[in-house]
Amino acid sequence: MQGEASQPLRAWVDYFRDLGIHDFYRRGEPVFAVQEATPEAGLAPSESSFAGSDAPLLKLEASSSFTAASHPVGAAILEPEMANPISFNNLAPLPATSIPAEGRAAALQAIRDDIGDCTRCPLAYAGRHKIVFGDGSPSARLMFVGEGPGADEDAQGLPFVGKAGQLLNNMIAAMGLQRGEVYIANIVKCRPPNNRVPEPVEANTCAQFLLRQIDVVRPEVIVALGATAATYLLGVKRSLSALRGHWHSCRGAKLAVTYHPAFLLRDPNMKGEAWKDLQMVMAELGLKPPARG
Ligand code: URA
Repeated sequence: MQGEASQPLRAWVDYFRDLGIHDFYRRGEPVFAVQEATPEAGLAPSESSFAGSDAPLLKLEASSSFTAASHPVGAAILEPEMANPISFNNLAPLPATSIPAEGRAAALQAIRDDIGDCTRCPLAYAGRHKIVFGDGSPSARLMFVGEGPGADEDAQGLPFVGKAGQLLNNMIAAMGLQRGEVYIANIVKCRPPNNRVPEPVEANTCAQFLLRQIDVVRPEVIVALGATAATYLLGVKRSLSALRGHWHSCRGAKLAVTYHPAFLLRDPNMKGEAWKDLQMVMAELGLKPPARG
């Protein structure tokens, strides 16, 4: 499937991915999917049909434990099973001492210098313009980790500056903070082509740098934005609903999982759920929402 015809399916896959569902399989022959994907059949989801009761006619079933052998011959795997990633806690020992606040900007710059004009993974050759290192206070109490740069971030070299970034800014403001008070980074520092999910080799190659950034900033709380960030930081592949609502640990910080802002743009009905996650973080950090005025 190519061009515009693939957009509705892409939107559905993105939707499920944001919910933490990575694996899909298809029953039967692809020709049935094509036949059913007519506008009359309603496959193309309008923005509202995401939240509505319209079931996708192209039936997508998800299973976290799916293997080819456990399903009938002929089942086509759309996305290969990802080997379990290693949690950031297990990638390297936590440094015994933290860098004093006044040395953190230089320590972050040293990491940026090490990255250089990186060609360590395939994303370097996939149309990247700028490496998106990270942004914010080197001594932030709160760090947000997203998935990877999009087109706006790739053009500007800064994380979360597009539409999803505007929503993230609003989320930060609703917590009573300014963007410059937090630290924002991504699992991968280069834009995946067509904003696809980073491949494990890309995320794993880049992990060493994000790990060092976390160890320099030493945030009290990390918020994983979406399934990709949660998967790689925690080293588990579980649904967002299983990961949300309680604390995890990551490199000495408490880690909370919430929806990615891009998902919330597609499904604004879930903003209330995300707000619950942020309130859990606010309670931990003793933050109060700004007075309305
Ligand atoms: N989405 C992300 O995950 N990160 C960004 O920096 C922008 C959009």
